[in-house]
Amino acid sequence: MLKVGITGGIGSGKSTVCQVFETLGIPVLYADTVAKNLMQKDPILRQNIIALLGKEAYTQNRLNTAFISQKVFADKEKLAALNAITHPAVTAYSYKWIERQNSPYILKEAALFYESGTHNQVDVMIGVSATLPVRIARTMQRDNISEEAVLARMSKQMNEDEKMSRCDYIILNNNNSPIIDQVLALHQKLMLR
Ligand code: ADP
Repeated sequence: MLKVGITGGIGSGKSTVCQVFETLGIPVLYADTVAKNLMQKDPILRQNIIALLGKEAYTQNRLNTAFISQKVFADKEKLAALNAITHPAVTAYSYKWIERQNSPYILKEAALFYESGTHNQVDVMIGVSATLPVRIARTMQRDNISEEAVLARMSKQMNEDEKMSRCDYIILNNNNSPIIDQVLALHQKLMLR
């Protein structure tokens, strides 16, 4: 089965584009959601996270995302270490999930592909692209956060132009570039690969 990765900076609209693919019956694995679920449920991952960040990483048995974000945002090495223990668990889950799908191709959506090296686990990469002001405005509205907070998150991600230049296909998702036709055209191409 063809494995297709889909990425883009925060606010580019990659989740929105994936929802359009889902309406065509294409299964989508949302890597960040899988990561959060595994961090909550996988006992070994939990142990490793507590060893790295401390007991407060879980409060009342629930993943304390606010604490974890605050810890790793201020500390590059801790962020890298957290990714290094989380990515293998997500990869293992992804392979098992892919085996269960019955479709001409599947999508795996993630903000970080090239940053984590997981682009090597898929056959084709799609980039979802939008201008910086559009991405900032969307993220501020979606997450109800300040422009500074959006920029802080963006600073953790690879430069958008470089990311897009490495993708095989681009979906342009500015507010004046409807995505449905672009998804349909790409769907036809991927069905033939
Ligand atoms: P990402 O997953 O890349 O961070 P999302 O898909 O969550 O981005 O999109 C960010 C926000 O912008 C969401 O609230 C979404 O509904 C909105 N959005 C994305 N694409 C469009 C679009 N083409 N038209 C209108 N709103 C959009």
